[in-house]
Amino acid sequence: MYLRLLKPKFRKEEIVDKVEKYLVYNGKASLICANTKNLIEEIRKIHDLTPTTTAVLGRFATICGIMGLTSIKENDDSITAQIKGNGPCGSIVGVVIRDYNVANVKVYMQNPFVELPLKENGKIDVSGAVGSMGYLNVIKQNTVTDKEYNGLVPLVSGEIAEDFAEYFVTSEQKPTVLSLGVLVDKNGVKSAGGYMINLMPDATEEEISRLEKAVSESPSISELLSQNKTLKEIAKIVTGDNELELLQENLQIKFNCDCSKEKFERGLISIGKEDLEKIINEDGKADTVCHFCRKEYHFSKEELENLLKKM
Ligand SMILES: [Zn+2]
Repeated sequence: MYLRLLKPKFRKEEIVDKVEKYLVYNGKASLICANTKNLIEEIRKIHDLTPTTTAVLGRFATICGIMGLTSIKENDDSITAQIKGNGPCGSIVGVVIRDYNVANVKVYMQNPFVELPLKENGKIDVSGAVGSMGYLNVIKQNTVTDKEYNGLVPLVSGEIAEDFAEYFVTSEQKPTVLSLGVLVDKNGVKSAGGYMINLMPDATEEEISRLEKAVSESPSISELLSQNKTLKEIAKIVTGDNELELLQENLQIKFNCDCSKEKFERGLISIGKEDLEKIINEDGKADTVCHFCRKEYHFSKEELENLLKKM
């Protein structure tokens, strides 16, 4: 008898980031905790981000995903979030669509090549890149009723977590603790994730101060994740509740862009007959690129002429 060792076959398995929901303080608060390392690394590569813009877009994409799994109740409903700050990053836009247990996220930033020096404390200057003046706009769209909810808040700091927490408190009347973090260097994302805690209306003063104490004494989420702590361990640390109860663990946040050549066709049609004729005569073709996933769509002269006939 001999033992033959087989080399494990290389399989390209999808690496899935973990997201879990917990009930804490005997149901007086809920917590969602997400590890988004692979998602943010994918986004970093798609948009060719610098360490600074990886931290900005990473925090932003993480909260978009968290909202997709908390604020969206119905399948196929969507949320569009936009930050317009006075920093060098320019506009930051994210769209999240719920597909059962999955939040499909796509994000983009006007100026992804911004790189700022680290702050004195060694941290990435997120608010310097975003700007501390400006606004955060959140639009929720219900596909069935076609109803739209539009919330607008001024930026608090441009640190993103504080800005979204302000939105939840003022626009949704939800007392919220929100923490987002990305550890990144020029080689890539080392850790990324976030957690959001929502207090129920019947939470007592004692529970609120217990939570405040635990949160303020906790290391940052990116640090906890880089120490390879599990989401459950992190949930216990940031709430100080060792008896918390797992609500859901099969949740996912994924990068997914729903663009298509047909959508870009509609875009070209919408620019109007005159402008399309101008493109045909001057360029003889149209090269378009999706802002969100950088996929390119090319239209030949013939294809453009066919579009013109449809108008
Ligand atoms: Zn796309």
